[in-house]
Amino acid sequence: MSMRIVRTIPELRALLKALREGGSRIGFVPTMGYLHEGHAALIRQSTARCDHTVVSVFVNPTQFAPSEDLAQYPRDLERDQALCLKHGVSVLFMPEAAEVYPTGFCSVVEPGELGNMLCGQFRPGHFRGVATIVTKLFNMVQPDLAFFGQKDLQQTVIISRVVRDLNLPVDIVVAPTIREADGLALSSRNAYLSPENRLRAVCLSRGLLAAESAFRDGERRSERLLAIAREHLTEVDELQYLELVDTQSLETLGAVVTRTAAMCVAAIVGQTRLIDNVLLTPDPDSAHFISHLEMD
Ligand code: AMP
Repeated sequence: MSMRIVRTIPELRALLKALREGGSRIGFVPTMGYLHEGHAALIRQSTARCDHTVVSVFVNPTQFAPSEDLAQYPRDLERDQALCLKHGVSVLFMPEAAEVYPTGFCSVVEPGELGNMLCGQFRPGHFRGVATIVTKLFNMVQPDLAFFGQKDLQQTVIISRVVRDLNLPVDIVVAPTIREADGLALSSRNAYLSPENRLRAVCLSRGLLAAESAFRDGERRSERLLAIAREHLTEVDELQYLELVDTQSLETLGAVVTRTAAMCVAAIVGQTRLIDNVLLTPDPDSAHFISHLEMD
């Protein structure tokens, strides 16, 4: 089957109904476009595990605050199409905002406290927008598996909770963060960075990877691990948060890391808001975050 580009929900439903009735397992990768190797890695996981992969490209207006970068968010639909085609995507869903949000739209998915932590402190309403659009897309696509990147860890935790709480019939797979050669986590927003700020941006991953390395060498004191990361974060213009949290509740960890924790950072470099995280897992056998989110 060659790749189909679909812009309306009825067309998407008709196409996927036919595939599902033929017994196909459907994988789904929701994105905001300007696709890069991080997205490609999710697509590869989906095509490896599913008969057909649906990718959505939709810059969701309801997850941007009025002061944020909705209008400037980078877009390159031609390149996105080429990347999807190259990676064996069956359906590329690219709806207009009016298709997704009909006049009078007023129903939302509210993720509660999880949505107010970490990034939620700086982006009020953001995770309500994310939880709502992902639920809507799940209802449109009805995938068997949906693939998300660990880079947006809070998003994966919230989506997994929504799936559980609302009994959505989909399994969530979380895939590792893909990084540039110097460690910077790939992000569509990296396109905003000037060459000078691009060089400074690497301090986020340097800090996290330094803490991860100390953890591997046996350091378990939370304050010490945070201090090791913080030493590298002097290059940023604004450090929004650096926290060591539980990977399911997102609550701040106690004095000593005794179970899998995530060290999460958000910072502004130039005008660009960047996030990153690493997992610190005491028991190497449970290193795969995927294992406790997936419900196969
Ligand atoms: P976005 O287009 O930024 O909304 O991202 C779409 C999906 O790709 C989300 O599940 C992200 O977590 C994932 N993603 C973005 N950047 C990366 C990365 N560097 N590595 C792995 N997954 C990523």
